Amino acid sequence: MFSDKEDFKQSFSEKLETTLGKKVDSATETDAYRALGSLLTDEINKNWLKTNKHYQESKEKQVYYFSMEFLIGRLMGNNLLNMQLLNTVRNGLDELGFSLTELEEKESDAGLGNGGLGRLAACFLDSLASLGYAGHGYGIRYKYGMFDQRIIDGYQVELPDRWLSKEYVWEVRRPEEALEVRFGGEVEMVEEKSGALTCKHTNYEQVRAVPYDVPVVGFDNETVNTLRLWSAEASEDDTLKKASKQSDFDNFLEHKRSLEEISEFLYPDDSHEEGKRLRLKQEYFLVSSGVQNALDNFEKLNLPLTTFPDHAALHINDTHPALLIPELMRILMDERGLGWEEAWDITQASVSYTNHTTLSEALETWPVGMVRSLLPRIFMIIDEINERFCQTLWERYPGDFDRIASLAIIADGHVKMAHLSIVGSHSVNGVAKLHTDILKKREMKIFYDTFPERFNNKTNGITHRRWLMHANEPLSALITESIGDQWVRQPDRLQDLLKYKEDTSFLNRLNDIKQEKKEELTAFIKDYSNITIDPSSIFDVQIKRLHGYKRQLLNALHIMHLYNNLKANPNFNMTPRTFIFGAKAAPSYHFAKKVIKLIHTIASVVNNDPAVRNRMKVVFLENYSVSMAERIIPATNISEQISTASKEASGTGNMKFMMNGAITLGTMDGANVEIHDLVGDDHIYTFGLSSDEVLEYYKNGFYSSRKVYDEDDRVRHTLDQLIHYSPFSKGETEFQDIYDNLITYNDEFFVLKDFASYIDTQAKISEDYLDTRLWNEKSLVNIARSGKFSSDRTIQEYASEIWKIEPSGILK
Ligand SMILES: *Cc1c(COP(=O)(O)O)cnc(C)c1O
Repeated sequence: MFSDKEDFKQSFSEKLETTLGKKVDSATETDAYRALGSLLTDEINKNWLKTNKHYQESKEKQVYYFSMEFLIGRLMGNNLLNMQLLNTVRNGLDELGFSLTELEEKESDAGLGNGGLGRLAACFLDSLASLGYAGHGYGIRYKYGMFDQRIIDGYQVELPDRWLSKEYVWEVRRPEEALEVRFGGEVEMVEEKSGALTCKHTNYEQVRAVPYDVPVVGFDNETVNTLRLWSAEASEDDTLKKASKQSDFDNFLEHKRSLEEISEFLYPDDSHEEGKRLRLKQEYFLVSSGVQNALDNFEKLNLPLTTFPDHAALHINDTHPALLIPELMRILMDERGLGWEEAWDITQASVSYTNHTTLSEALETWPVGMVRSLLPRIFMIIDEINERFCQTLWERYPGDFDRIASLAIIADGHVKMAHLSIVGSHSVNGVAKLHTDILKKREMKIFYDTFPERFNNKTNGITHRRWLMHANEPLSALITESIGDQWVRQPDRLQDLLKYKEDTSFLNRLNDIKQEKKEELTAFIKDYSNITIDPSSIFDVQIKRLHGYKRQLLNALHIMHLYNNLKANPNFNMTPRTFIFGAKAAPSYHFAKKVIKLIHTIASVVNNDPAVRNRMKVVFLENYSVSMAERIIPATNISEQISTASKEASGTGNMKFMMNGAITLGTMDGANVEIHDLVGDDHIYTFGLSSDEVLEYYKNGFYSSRKVYDEDDRVRHTLDQLIHYSPFSKGETEFQDIYDNLITYNDEFFVLKDFASYIDTQAKISEDYLDTRLWNEKSLVNIARSGKFSSDRTIQEYASEIWKIEPSGILK
């Protein structure tokens, strides 16, 4: 490793010459980015090798975290931070005429995920490596990640995300470790002479799974774990060699295309499952490659198969990788010769499952016919798991048909993936206290009653390294200067900041840093969207996927309401605000796209009206992503976490904001409840129905949005503006669907019901913000209490309570 700045400059210049054939003075920023990447990977590889060797020799248990999504974002800055090289490299580059910040921008933002679920997986990898746990990710190397969002005339347009068109410096292709995955064909059970049944699988289609490894660098230690992303390729079969006629080549090319399709693109639906065959192929492709690989690793230890669960934990992030359960059974029985019981014990003891949602449209089920034709052997095993499970239920609850029918894995011609996941694993966890309670008491009550010992809570977290230390360097520096640097390894120590609650000079510095970040964002928005905003206004931010339950619409209706007030009464008392949105809608989600259009319509009315110009602005930042979040969050005053209570399993955006001193404006939903517990009523703004009230309404059907509309003038006036002639509708039918959703279809997400308490709470915020000292104190309390939401805490809980592992990496 280079020892100092001069040494770095030397190595960097050499790197430019040896790998790119360039001198420093003729190198472009992209050249410099690539040279820096190459220089760092040289260093990382040394520890990577050491870590792998150590894991192999120590035979320590390895965790394999299976996820269809890893929303890792950019790695350069984070790797430098974790390697403790940020300052050396930044200063060295400066002297060579490069800006590190500019170079970081040259990296593709790896968008291999939709939102919270994929980002959680990325935070977990960072915490695993930083705490020295042997934990690795298995995912898919999508050729196209989350689509690029463009806004044209206020409408979302999706463009393919060509993230690999720039060289990706962090991955290593390992073709020598490629595996085969089989689809389709026929399966027959054949009786051997010995009397044993064996499985003959014929006429299948074979795909080559080629791993691309991305190193996961631990913070200030020597642990480098692995994120292994699988890419689908055609097998080097002999069809091509034998091909002589042109048509054979054409067939081969077509065949090759159809196989490569498997890792072509990420499905862009958040919290919605479409039941598409290609998606099922992707899921099996991931788990088959991963399970084979995990077993291969284990077999290098030369231990009896029954000890597999002592050496490997297989975790499934939501049900998408649930086919891991029958796939492990298949390999243990068909390829390793174990009997059912033995294989089942091993499987259950190694698998654990995280539930991420109770939204019914997000629960995965697959038509039996599709599973059977695409994965005939896997279907047989699922069927057998189901038969045996129902049999044990029958013994436990004789005659209780209803219970057995509702617990079954296969029902109504569909395979229920959540049921498979619960039955096949030893641990099922929710992602926040409230969410786990809802699982136990309602959504999965019947499973909880049957297997209470399997259920547990693991409240989500975020890595404070990316979201505080890297995203907000001035704040991190202030914290360290004030309470020392122990918080970096023990984020709970952020509580030591509470002693500055009454300290004027500290509070002023906190304020200055927020202001500095707001000014940076102001400049960015001018540059990116050509909108001028007022850095002294309240920055009120809602950035997350666009979804009905997240209620961006509630926020939008509030802005319309404020605008109306300002127009009706120029003396209307209101602290200047900037409303900032960032959100992608699933391409097929009509309602969500209409809300994007509405926000843009509101923005163009508000931003172009001289009468309100100095009081409010509305900004929709196109193409929301991890790196966009890193810019916005440190500059935020108000964190909008306004989902319909009971719908947001946890949220993790809420935690990032809290850690950066924003105040939450939220419903008592997901982890907002735990934020509230930590900071108390004075340091958070809560409003709206409780989850019990919401769930009660769903049960009894007593909610009438029409009644709210009839009784509340503010609601009626605002909603009418969507469909009658107004600055927002101009008499067109653009927003009829939104109106219908709220009135005709009775407002599934209680937007109107919560409207009054939302606008009242917003008015209170307007007032409170004027007391700068009080506001800074709120901000301080939020930062100080946010340590619990470091994913280090979350990972320590998973490690000790689910995976049963201790740190075993190289901690220096
Ligand atoms: C954290 C994060 C999310 C999750 O945000 P929620 O508000 O919890 O839904 C989604 N997308 C990106 C890019 C993120 O960084």
